Amino acid sequence: MDSIFADAQKRLVEVFRHIDLTDDVREKLKHPKLSLCVSIPVRMDNGHLRVFTGYRVQFDDTRGPTKGGIRYHPDVSLDEVTSLSFWMTIKCAVMNLPFGGAKGGVSVNPKDLSRLELERLSRSYIRAIADIIGPQRDIPAPDVYTNATVMGWMADEYYQIKRQQLPGVITGKPIHLNGSLGRDSATGRGALHVLQQWVERHDLHAEKMTLAVQGFGNAGYHFSRLAHEAGFKVVAISDSRGAIFSEEGLDPQKVMDHKEQKKDLRTMLYCDGSVCDLQRYKKLSGRELLELDVDVLVLAALENQVDKDNAGNIKARQLLEIANGPVTSEADVLLAKRGITVLPDVLVNAGGVTVSYFEWVQNRAGFYWDENKVNSRLKETMVREARTIFDLAEEKHISLRTAAYLQGVKRIAGAITQQGTHEYFQNT
Ligand code: NAD
Repeated sequence: MDSIFADAQKRLVEVFRHIDLTDDVREKLKHPKLSLCVSIPVRMDNGHLRVFTGYRVQFDDTRGPTKGGIRYHPDVSLDEVTSLSFWMTIKCAVMNLPFGGAKGGVSVNPKDLSRLELERLSRSYIRAIADIIGPQRDIPAPDVYTNATVMGWMADEYYQIKRQQLPGVITGKPIHLNGSLGRDSATGRGALHVLQQWVERHDLHAEKMTLAVQGFGNAGYHFSRLAHEAGFKVVAISDSRGAIFSEEGLDPQKVMDHKEQKKDLRTMLYCDGSVCDLQRYKKLSGRELLELDVDVLVLAALENQVDKDNAGNIKARQLLEIANGPVTSEADVLLAKRGITVLPDVLVNAGGVTVSYFEWVQNRAGFYWDENKVNSRLKETMVREARTIFDLAEEKHISLRTAAYLQGVKRIAGAITQQGTHEYFQNT
């Protein structure tokens, strides 16, 4: 298959058919503004030095400082980070946040490191990229296998380098270190708002709907918990090691409690236990979960989970993309032919960056909101943008993904054009 970035760019071809854009805009959307590759030396607990490879890519900053998470995963590559930074650019514009898009990552399996090694890695990564980030320039946040604790270390390292407290440099920080209430559940909560809007619009009923959830980390767990509370029946959940299924429905909180009991004491950050250790439920493989006959397949793990090889086996009526890029462009076409709706990542998982924006606003104002205010502003933003995209898709007879991209690209194009384009100067 093509590179992830090449596949991500294919989505623009369809979008460009529905919008009149200048060449400047088309060119700008093809190239990241800045790609940094760094070596990250870390002193391991046994005294040896290991050097990891890390990246930070800022895709476009026309609409504001760039924004995007930091991922720790063995498969992190420049191609993946570039794609994620492109999606962040689109996503921030879809939500009308005053940010451009960026992403970072380190090629590492964090489960192999001790807690102290992980802290040294996180601080070393920030030292390597400190010159290109900042509250007015580029603002990282958590992503796969990073969390609030990691953001706290990173923010502290940045303050030491700059010799001042600049909490707006990173979002997703711990609550007692200037984080925002509601940030940890924001991605799952935002995804649920989008699903509920869809359900309402199509006269569906939560109580009659079954969900299968791939990925049980920050986003997948909070989504499952809140969806269960809202009346949906979560019948299957998977993590990187396996899946469980129960026809009567699972209680996601109980599944998480079980996972947490098995905590790996080596790092205190990552679970050793796995949802597949639960004996009362039927065990499935991760692949079987994807092919379950459910109303909604929720993809909350990694990219490229549904591709041309398994798209034909998907039985769910709707796919909810909480992960970034879980469905390839080829799979999109095959699913559409079979009448399966994909609720796209750039809208569905935007609750995380929206509350990150609220955190940044609170940090800059030095004035903190209560959780109700965060959650109600999140709901307002998600509902407004979801309805706009659903309307646009119906009006133009296009997929929800194309509608979301169209909305985002329109806003980015507006900003690029207002900065002055080749056409503008020709006309003057
Ligand atoms: P996380 O590290 O908290 O959790 C990832 C989960 O995915 C873990 O449960 C892991 O076991 C599971 N997983 C990994 N490979 C899997 C596989 N092959 N099959 C099934 N499960 C697998 O990460 P997260 O923050 O929840 O992020 C998940 C996805 O959501 C990513 O694509 C991320 O970019 C996206 N996302 C997250 C946020 C956020 O605020 N956390 C915001 C927007 C998008």
